[in-house]
This record gives sequence, C-alpha cells and structure tokens, in this order.
Amino acid sequence: MKIALIAHDGKKAEMVAFLLENKSFLGDADLVATGTTGSHIEKAGLKVNRLLSGPLGGDAQIAAMVATKQLDMVIFFRDPMGKHPHEPDVLMLIRLCDVHNIPLGTNPATAELLLRGAMNPEK
Ligand code: PGA
Repeated sequence: MKIALIAHDGKKAEMVAFLLENKSFLGDADLVATGTTGSHIEKAGLKVNRLLSGPLGGDAQIAAMVATKQLDMVIFFRDPMGKHPHEPDVLMLIRLCDVHNIPLGTNPATAELLLRGAMNPEK
C-alpha cells in the first residue's frame, strides 16, 4: 500500500494530527509526500519519502505517480480559503485521480474512511 500525502500550509498541522490519530490504520504503508508536508510528517516521527515542494512541482510528481499506477491512495488536505500559485498542478492531480480511479481524500473525515476501508478491503 502506497499513500501520497499533501497539505497546503493552512492544513499542515491538521495533516500531522490526522496521521498521528490514525497511525494504526496506516499499518506498514509506504508514505510519500510533497516536500514541506513531508518535513512536518518526519518531525512527528513518521517515515516518509519526500518529493519536491508543491509549488516547485511536488504535486505534479504525485500526479505522475497516479498516472503510472504507483499509488493506491492520495490524501490531499487542500486549504479552501487560500490562493495557490500552483493551482493548475492541484487541478491536474485531482483530475488524474479521477481518470485512474485512485481514492482521493481531501479532508480528514473522508481520509479516515478511506484508510478504514483500505484496512478492510472486503467488498
Ligand atoms: P508542500 O506542498 O508540502 O511542499 O508545502 C504542498 C502544496 O502546497 O501543494
């Protein structure tokens, strides 16, 4: 199980709190994150593979991983109140999750359901 993690600046603390609260659902999942989100996650004591920072192409790297089927899930806490220079990359990532049917959680409530569902994959 490989999960990508991204949080806009206003949501980074929420991402770290979410991961710590749901650590048991992460199991031995491989975590990959955009640069700054990843450094916050590392500081919280979790192992994560860090990519470029979002505005420098990190969201695009994750989008490419989605398109090449390297990810099982994307957890992306967007800040709906903020403006972002890399909005086109954000939209591309969301679009590619839909193109390739990759679960995308954009808030903690949804992300928790995705993790719980992934832990119990019975259909
Ligand atoms: P960051 O990028 O983790 O490097 O801050 C996230 C984003 O803004 O997309």
